[in-house]
Amino acid sequence: MSKDGRGKSWDKVQSLMKQAVRTPMSVQELLTQLSYLRGASCIFFGTGSLISDRISSLESAIENHKLSFELQTSNDNSFPTKFLYAIDTKVQRLLLQCKEARARDEVNDRIIEFDHLVSMVLDQTFHMQLPLCSHVPTDTPEHVAGGPNKRLKISAGHPSPESAPRSMVTNNSQFDAFKLKDGEDWKTFCGASVNDRPMWNDQCRMCARWHIKGNCFSDCPHAASHVPHEKVSTEKERSFQKYVKKVRGD
Ligand SMILES: [Zn+2]
Repeated sequence: MSKDGRGKSWDKVQSLMKQAVRTPMSVQELLTQLSYLRGASCIFFGTGSLISDRISSLESAIENHKLSFELQTSNDNSFPTKFLYAIDTKVQRLLLQCKEARARDEVNDRIIEFDHLVSMVLDQTFHMQLPLCSHVPTDTPEHVAGGPNKRLKISAGHPSPESAPRSMVTNNSQFDAFKLKDGEDWKTFCGASVNDRPMWNDQCRMCARWHIKGNCFSDCPHAASHVPHEKVSTEKERSFQKYVKKVRGD
């Protein structure tokens, strides 16, 4: 804390505390989070304090046995989270002892000896139950990208949100004028005069598939325009009409 112009200001400490919580999905992310924890320990307890030293040793141990840690992660993608949770639990126990102790020798420093945790990983006997409230995402393109199991989901050029599975959505309230006519093929519109389609907002255009074919997908980049025709302004309707006429060659 800031004292005599040294250390961190209260605002700085508060902003450090507001770091977004993110589950580590790789050994590298685990190491990154440990380095944050070590940084915070240095701020709160000083460089060379017990906690920061022990975390520093742990980081070295993980670096030295990275392959074993990566093997565990490839078997169980929640392993880095479980390991970090084990560390956190131990640090919390130590802090609780520090809070309640009346003298330094009442605190058992061995609580945060992490060597045996590392040994358990090497022996493949590490086990940790995560609390029920924790949510570890299953492996996602973002998390596996760059890793040994590099895998990228590509769906027809549409970026798919990780959280929501792709599903078809139907427009039950189309403009009659835009509906496919008898004998007309959606393929005529698909990818045609894309730049003539009116913008729906700053980010996307009016979805041709939704307004012409009458259905689309939940992960469509123009999903914001998936609205019933009553919700489309006259101005946008007219612009879309122009685009439709152009493609139809009217
Ligand atoms: Zn769409």
